Amino acid sequence: MELFDLTIHELHDRLKKKEVSAVEATRAMLARIEATDGRVNAFITVTPEEALAAAAEADQRIARGEMDILTGIPVALKDIFLTRGVRTTCASKILANFIPPYDATSWLRLKERGAVLVGKLNQDEFAMGSSSESSAFGPTRNPWNLECIPGGSSGGSAAAIAARQATATLGTDTGGSIRQPAAHCGCVGLKPTYGRVSRYGVIAYASSLDQVGPVTRDVRDAAIMLGAVAGHDPLDSTSVDRPVPDYTKSLTNDVKGLKIGLPSEYFIEGLDPDVQQAMDRAIETYRGLGAEFVDISLPHTDYAVACYYLIATAEASSNLARYDGVRFGHRVSDPTGLMDMYCRSRAEGFGSEVKRRIMLGTYALSSGYYDAYYLKAQKVRTLIMGDFLKAFETVDVILTPVTPTPAFRIGEKVGDPLQMYLSDIFTIPTNLAGTCGISVPAGLSRDGRPIGLQLVGRPFGEEEIIRAAHAFEQATTWHQQKAPL
Ligand code: GLN
Repeated sequence: MELFDLTIHELHDRLKKKEVSAVEATRAMLARIEATDGRVNAFITVTPEEALAAAAEADQRIARGEMDILTGIPVALKDIFLTRGVRTTCASKILANFIPPYDATSWLRLKERGAVLVGKLNQDEFAMGSSSESSAFGPTRNPWNLECIPGGSSGGSAAAIAARQATATLGTDTGGSIRQPAAHCGCVGLKPTYGRVSRYGVIAYASSLDQVGPVTRDVRDAAIMLGAVAGHDPLDSTSVDRPVPDYTKSLTNDVKGLKIGLPSEYFIEGLDPDVQQAMDRAIETYRGLGAEFVDISLPHTDYAVACYYLIATAEASSNLARYDGVRFGHRVSDPTGLMDMYCRSRAEGFGSEVKRRIMLGTYALSSGYYDAYYLKAQKVRTLIMGDFLKAFETVDVILTPVTPTPAFRIGEKVGDPLQMYLSDIFTIPTNLAGTCGISVPAGLSRDGRPIGLQLVGRPFGEEEIIRAAHAFEQATTWHQQKAPL
């Protein structure tokens, strides 16, 4: 095993035994990025100097005996997290030269424990997309098959794990953006309950849906990363003040008697046969481990995608109003007046998908249409939330596919936004309900593209989904398979 192949807990053990230094681990990771990222394009910015300085500091901490599980671990962040002094673009031309003056809370929490930042990761522009093709910095490719998309919007966060270019990464999930790319790249991706992790310093897309979470090589690493970033933050009023459990205590490898719900609405005709087969196999695996299955219904599932695209675009149109060329961001060089400056700076700075969302959202919020669209969508959202709460009266977790198909080809859906939007059909309802979900590797398609299994939990039920995901992982070998890169 190379240093860049290791999980957080494996690298931690080696650092602790002083078999390797943080500087050596970081050098190995930077060399791996150098050797592979020309093909993958998972990174927008690589930060070798900062990384080596942070690694040297981590080595001093280790020498002083002040070691934490994250000390000296090379991590990378989706380029939506503000990083003080390090360019943060959100994969948009409008922020191409933005250097933030402060750190996102989630990143600060990793940094304070000695994690080493190796770079900022590619994504869909402003996290709007499912394929990472809408980046102003070119598409990211799937390390399992370079002709395919890695998923999105946190495509770089998942591709970097699959390509072994970082030990762990953070992404954000508004409608599936952690779980869907994790599934397509054969990684573990966890979207925590809304309010579990601070959003302070994370560039806002749809504020009532956005949530920060880890993408990792295994479930133990996801538990470690979640424990590090979760918890109340006075700087984000939507972060919930509730104790953070030690999530690694949930890695019990015991699911006997666990009640798993199978929602009929998610096992639909048109599901890719390889995905269906992976789900059937997973159900058998869980049965063998002593879990019980219960057929359930989430009757409002059909409305989720439409509801999401009204709420997410409405919130986006409001959040993106701040990019006006005045305080920060791209500004045209030759404005003829204030209005011209606003209009042309935004026209030049935003890509076409972002513009589409702003227009859809502005329309949904406009007077006369607000009640028919935005308000109605909020009501439907409450019904979707109710479906989940009702289901959790009888089951502990819900099992579904993450995506209807394995990763599609680059370019295949760019001309058809509706098809693109439908790739999140199984992940969006979790965000609308505000609850948590995890994606775990559950198979490979006949031609070698990863398939993910989703476990959805109760609000603040992260311990249960981690326990269930871990037991599955330990009973299978999918997480040990490596992208042929
Ligand atoms: N693909 C969905 C969208 O475009 C979800 C994106 C996300 O979760 N950030 O909005």
